[in-house]
Amino acid sequence: MCQLLFMVMVPWAFLYIPPDHVVSALEVGKIDGGVVFRGIFVVLSIVFGRVACGWVCPWGTMQELNEPITNSHTRNIPSWIKYGFFFVWLVSVVVLIARNNVRSFRLAIEPAPLDAFHLVLYFLMFGEVIFFCAWLGRRSACKLCPLGAVMALASPLRRLKIAGDSKQCKHCRTCEKNCSMNLPITSQVDRNERVDDFNCILCGRCVESCPNGLLRYQLR
Ligand code: SF4
Ligand code: SF4
Repeated sequence: MCQLLFMVMVPWAFLYIPPDHVVSALEVGKIDGGVVFRGIFVVLSIVFGRVACGWVCPWGTMQELNEPITNSHTRNIPSWIKYGFFFVWLVSVVVLIARNNVRSFRLAIEPAPLDAFHLVLYFLMFGEVIFFCAWLGRRSACKLCPLGAVMALASPLRRLKIAGDSKQCKHCRTCEKNCSMNLPITSQVDRNERVDDFNCILCGRCVESCPNGLLRYQLR
């Protein structure tokens, strides 16, 4: 519900958080809506991990709505790709800020113009998500997303996790077959009684799919 609400809001909200503005705003010392929005996701991830990917992000919702056309041979996508995207983005922001000699930042949440460029960008982003799902499988855009990489990096001390019960687990792997992010749930539960992977988006598919009800959310 939360995801759908957010997705309905997106055409309007998108004007305040367009991805092209993040870099150009920082370049001139402005903290725009895109920086604030992404900053809130990152701060949330310190305690709750990548929960925003599973429950808030409209592009995550789009991927779930895409299930009928999603490639059933979901592939593992190496994490270094999304960390690589993030690194390139980070270096370009730092270089641009340094080059423009920006000394102080100011908050400036202004809408981008409702022009053809931003409408095309908006539909391209949804198109990209549909393409990745059809080509690479379930939640593939989440496995490539540089913002997801930042949230994973920010969450080593997160408190919200999926907990299991290794003694009662039948190792049927139903949870793994349904996992949005292809995570090795059973081996992690066998080791630590919980899913300790930074890339878990707390979507709860494993919780719903375990036929023995052995998985649950745990905040501690
Ligand atoms: S481990 Fe469970 S909650 Fe985490 S991504 Fe996989 S299905 Fe979602
Ligand atoms: S679905 Fe449940 S019983 Fe099966 S492997 Fe996963 S946690 Fe164990």
